[in-house]
Amino acid sequence: MFEVLQEPGSPNPLPRGAKRQRTLERPVSLSGVGVHSNVPARMTLNPAQANTGIVFAPCNAPPFAALWTNVVDTTLRTALGDGGARVGTVEHLLSACAGLGIDNLRVEIDGPELPAFDGSAAAFVEAIDEAGCMDLPASRRTLKVLHPVRVQHNGCFAEFLPAEQDLTLDIEIDFAAPVIGRQRRIFAIDSGTFRRELSRARSFGFLRDLAPLQARGLGLGASLENTVALLEDAVLNSEGLRFPDECVRHKMLDALGDLALAGAPIIGLFRSYRSGHALNVAAVRALLSDASAFRLESIGAPSPV
Ligand SMILES: [Zn+2]
Repeated sequence: MFEVLQEPGSPNPLPRGAKRQRTLERPVSLSGVGVHSNVPARMTLNPAQANTGIVFAPCNAPPFAALWTNVVDTTLRTALGDGGARVGTVEHLLSACAGLGIDNLRVEIDGPELPAFDGSAAAFVEAIDEAGCMDLPASRRTLKVLHPVRVQHNGCFAEFLPAEQDLTLDIEIDFAAPVIGRQRRIFAIDSGTFRRELSRARSFGFLRDLAPLQARGLGLGASLENTVALLEDAVLNSEGLRFPDECVRHKMLDALGDLALAGAPIIGLFRSYRSGHALNVAAVRALLSDASAFRLESIGAPSPV
């Protein structure tokens, strides 16, 4: 059931088990409107040195790392902050970085939330391709799962299990509404699989939930341009779905972004049932709070200076 896809002609091929840390070759800028805030933002993805990690640099505030310790909100999106500054809806960019093997990046942003674009990670993949990727003279560090770690809440769960190599996602969702129903996918994540199977899967939501959400100040920028809008048994977007199981694929995209908050690529199996940002982040927190559950490993020797 695992799918391992080749990546013919990809501008940024990433071999499995790539050993060197990566960043962009040059800066690239994007702008758009946030799905929750409806506020426009311009962001620039800048190359960063080895061992920087992914860092957000909001206007007029100190930069902070994209780490689980800086999560400030997981309601329908993952928001990061450190003291005063906050940046919302980071998960699709982090997913693109994890999927394409970008370890180091400095993200300048002049608004409170990353732009939604089409609700998927496609715009970030395009931007990264436009900027190009380069290896850095430092070995990549990975985080290997050593024993199972599980979090659960109200019949939903998320767990890490050991695996020999790579990160495999096994994600299941279960909605009463027949338009989604029960969907499960399993993918071993490499850049080809990410591009082809996950990066274009869009955010989704039920039309019935929109007004209550907006009353809470969320979903203010939601539209058919950035969200798959659902009735109980129908898709409202005229173009329909990009995959018959686009919803679970988007949940996989989200999970990959949330797991990137561990700060290093995870080697293991991540399984979840009806999980979301809160449970994904709780699983990362549980894993990294148990020193016996993981080991940091260097998978390539640094090149001589
Ligand atoms: Zn999402």
